[in-house]
Amino acid sequence: MNSATLAGIGMTSARTRARMVERLRSQGIKDPRVLHAIGVVPRHIFLEPALAQRAYEDTALPLGFGQTISQPFVVARMIEILIAGRDLGKTLEIGAGCGYQAAILGVLSKQVFAVERIAQLLARARDNLRQIKLSHVRLKHADGNLGLPEAAPFDTIILAAAASAVPQSLLAQLAPGGRLVMPLGSSEQVISLIERGEKGFTETRFDAVRFVPLLPGVE
Ligand code: SAH
Repeated sequence: MNSATLAGIGMTSARTRARMVERLRSQGIKDPRVLHAIGVVPRHIFLEPALAQRAYEDTALPLGFGQTISQPFVVARMIEILIAGRDLGKTLEIGAGCGYQAAILGVLSKQVFAVERIAQLLARARDNLRQIKLSHVRLKHADGNLGLPEAAPFDTIILAAAASAVPQSLLAQLAPGGRLVMPLGSSEQVISLIERGEKGFTETRFDAVRFVPLLPGVE
């Protein structure tokens, strides 16, 4: 592929991303920083070549290993809830997959940690993030049920896999005033926001969603 072709693809994907951002705005995503971040991260590089042409459809797509790259609307919605009109601060993602949402977080915050339990997916996330020069996103092969004690506490935590209860370690690693967003539930899940206030934790529930399950251990 020569550079003219590459530049052509770059332009096309920039225009397609701009359309995706407009669609997200019309679906109710309001935070300009979140929309900007979605607009600058090329989603096609996170997909297998055979699926790359579908990168800007608003759907979850298979990543391999039975996992999926999250739907852009859901990524935008969850991060908009997480950021809550403030700043992400030091943030932790559980379930990095191939790194798409970690990249969006990396545009929004200088301090991003992301853990993934499948080593081969983590290696892909590492390559993908290097390709788009987001090397400040720190990735770790670990069981996210345990959080990331060595980098705690976190101002914000986001889970890309569903559980029927909030893992205790994650609550413990949330800074005072911190926020955690996750798909809560097993077969039926809703986006839940947990906030750590002076008097303890409060929970607010949002849209119904469908995520892969948070699994124990690493592979
Ligand atoms: N964040 C990704 C979504 C990946 S799907 C994106 O932007 O598209 C959810 C991911 O969570 C999967 O890769 C799965 O392997 C991972 N996962 C599930 N349980 C986990 C755990 N306990 N610790 C870390 N990662 C986990």
